[in-house]
Amino acid sequence: MTFSPRATGTALEDAAELFRKARRVVVLTGAGISTPSGIPDFRSEGTGLWSRDEPLEVASLNTFRTHPESFFKWFRPLAGQIFTAQPNPAHTALVELENWGIPQTIVTQNIDMLHQKAGSKHVIEMHGTLKTLSCTRCYRKYDSGDFVKRFIDDGTIPLCLNCNGILKPDVILFGEQLPQSAVFEAQSAVRACDLMVVAGSSLEVLPVAGLPMQAVDRGAHLVVINHSPTYINVRADVVIMDDVAVILPEIAKRVLHG
Ligand SMILES: [Zn+2]
Repeated sequence: MTFSPRATGTALEDAAELFRKARRVVVLTGAGISTPSGIPDFRSEGTGLWSRDEPLEVASLNTFRTHPESFFKWFRPLAGQIFTAQPNPAHTALVELENWGIPQTIVTQNIDMLHQKAGSKHVIEMHGTLKTLSCTRCYRKYDSGDFVKRFIDDGTIPLCLNCNGILKPDVILFGEQLPQSAVFEAQSAVRACDLMVVAGSSLEVLPVAGLPMQAVDRGAHLVVINHSPTYINVRADVVIMDDVAVILPEIAKRVLHG
């Protein structure tokens, strides 16, 4: 076991070696992989979903239903940040590792689509996505594209072209259950993996936080890269408490060239 307040060469090499030997990798990513792309960590992992400042209330399903204009007012700057954000070296490093030939599934707590923008092929979005919107009245689904662009530009609340109902971004709001399909898919990926990597998540929200434990209980190796300690560091093969946007490229470099 390697504990490192700053990444040492040994920890990086140990992590790279685990990647080289792995046959199937699951990477669990949280807010920490998106902050280097300029997306604020708006979701307090301590309490559930979205809870910085007032979002716990404003980003709830209840507010969306009763005062959609309050929700959209809060959401507009965040949506703007998300749609202009670009993947950072951590996202790119994961794509490089996948392309190098290690089958990889990403389980993400983020809604910003940055893994897909970077080119990752298998991404399970536990908290939904901003890519699509659904009508709250007739359930018709739309691609976010034009609706969100207009909303960001002038604040126009997106409305259904079919029934004029309000369109809700397909992200999981406070008070909403995680999508069962995503939960099952993630659990199944975890059961099949022999290396689990936690990247930029403090692992404080169940059921996502339980996934690394399921992996190690089944004999998978575990690498944790996160600024702050997580509950499962004691079970990890390698712990690197540092910036994922620095560490993942270092690991990828060693795997690919070393
Ligand atoms: Zn509709």
